[in-house]
Amino acid sequence: MRPGLGMSMEKVVKSDEQWKRELTADQYRILRLKGTELPFHNEYYANKRQGSYLCAGCGNKLFSSKAKYDSGTGWPSFVEPISPDAVEFQDDKTFRTVRTEVVCARCGGHLGHVFDDGPLPTGKRYCMNSGSLRFVEES
Ligand code: FE
Repeated sequence: MRPGLGMSMEKVVKSDEQWKRELTADQYRILRLKGTELPFHNEYYANKRQGSYLCAGCGNKLFSSKAKYDSGTGWPSFVEPISPDAVEFQDDKTFRTVRTEVVCARCGGHLGHVFDDGPLPTGKRYCMNSGSLRFVEES
């Protein structure tokens, strides 16, 4: 399989007990239990520094600050992932609607949802939980 098609990424698989030990309570609730944090009360929604956002569970590089914009929602929002292989999508049919859940392609951790009301050119709004991310500053 050619690299870049999503089939070559080494998956991270851990038991629930392992995740519980390694993650903070917030990270565990978001990444493993698909929780959602409060808007405007999270680490990165207003972060304007230059760098990369990694998966807090496995370190997979997910988003660049170049793709981040202020959506006004109170959650960190991006127009696209750092590469198409970084994330995967799942139908989320909770709350009597169908949303598209975004998960880390390496560890399966829940990151947030993607919506079609983002700015051009992608028109996408990747609405992420800060608790599922770890920011690394780059100058
Ligand atoms: Fe991950």
